[in-house]
Amino acid sequence: MAEQEQKHTMTLGLDELQAIVAAAVKEAVAASQGNNASIAEALKDARKPYVDPKTIANDKSARRSMIAAKKQEKERTEFYQEKVCPHTMGSSPNSARSLPDSSFAIHVLDTGEVIGVCTNCQKTISSLNQNDLRWFAIKGGNIRSSAGTRFFSDPLKAQRARLSLDQKELILDELTGELKEDDATPEPVSAE
Ligand SMILES: [Zn+2]
Repeated sequence: MAEQEQKHTMTLGLDELQAIVAAAVKEAVAASQGNNASIAEALKDARKPYVDPKTIANDKSARRSMIAAKKQEKERTEFYQEKVCPHTMGSSPNSARSLPDSSFAIHVLDTGEVIGVCTNCQKTISSLNQNDLRWFAIKGGNIRSSAGTRFFSDPLKAQRARLSLDQKELILDELTGELKEDDATPEPVSAE
């Protein structure tokens, strides 16, 4: 017995002992810090509301179908505006009577640009778009509206002031057909 006990006895220098203790303490501290960090992480996670991955997947899927539906609706609208609607009065399926008159409600913008919106399909035309000018040429049943043009003695002259000569020609020929006089700078007049 005494021999066995002796075998287990070891002699350590103070330095060695210090090194061992220091290493052990360091390890313990590191381990406890690691634990603290993971506890902190766990606490943070616990505060977050749990969201089922299925819910996330469903949301994504709903979003995808919503985008697809919007795209389809846009395509349908464009098809209806370009290929179906004749842009004439009473062309809505709900209309009891129809007329060959243009269904575009014409509005003059402050910039001078003349736009038209089909009261049936909401297609919007502009006097600045060459392809749209043919629509302006068709007489319509809607009274032209405008804003900011009332201060000019000649509203049409004021509107076309900023346009190029070509555009002025086109708009005048196709839109009014009546005002062919010179294009002098419009004279503003008081509203009173
Ligand atoms: Zn239309």
